[in-house]
Amino acid sequence: MTTYVDWRNRGRCAGQDPERWVIENLPLPKRDRPAIARQLCAGCPTDVQLACLRNAVEMKLTGMVVAGQMIETTWHLQQAAADAGLGDPPARSPRGRKQTVQWPRPCQRCNKSMRPSRSTRDVHPGTVMSSNKNQCLYCMSQIRAEAAAAAEVVAA
Ligand code: SF4
Ligand SMILES: [Zn+2]
Repeated sequence: MTTYVDWRNRGRCAGQDPERWVIENLPLPKRDRPAIARQLCAGCPTDVQLACLRNAVEMKLTGMVVAGQMIETTWHLQQAAADAGLGDPPARSPRGRKQTVQWPRPCQRCNKSMRPSRSTRDVHPGTVMSSNKNQCLYCMSQIRAEAAAAAEVVAA
């Protein structure tokens, strides 16, 4: 039987500073982190990686590199466990994986094409600045003004 002490001691990370496996502590830029995570656990025996992953699932560990993968959320944990045959894949929850927003996107109020905030017109020609992913800056100020006017009517 693979006991906790047994696999822990045989892991590639045995005797090393566990902080190195904390995702927040991985070097930047973020896009390099998946490769760094793989390197951290590279060469760790397969049965140890599996035991490590199983332990992470039992402990609901997140924010750590486990079996060479960045386990940021319970969604990642469930997905990694499913990939290793340890359980069902996670339900597709909107809170799970970050939804990617496509730009440019139309303002839901004026339908003008919007670019992401903090980006320039050079990158997205012919666009207006967004306030959030649904409204442009102009419409957002209109919405605020209308809300303020409506509040005044109620107060009067
Ligand atoms: S899989 Fe990674 S974190 Fe787990 S025991 Fe091996 S080296 Fe350590
Ligand atoms: Zn608008």
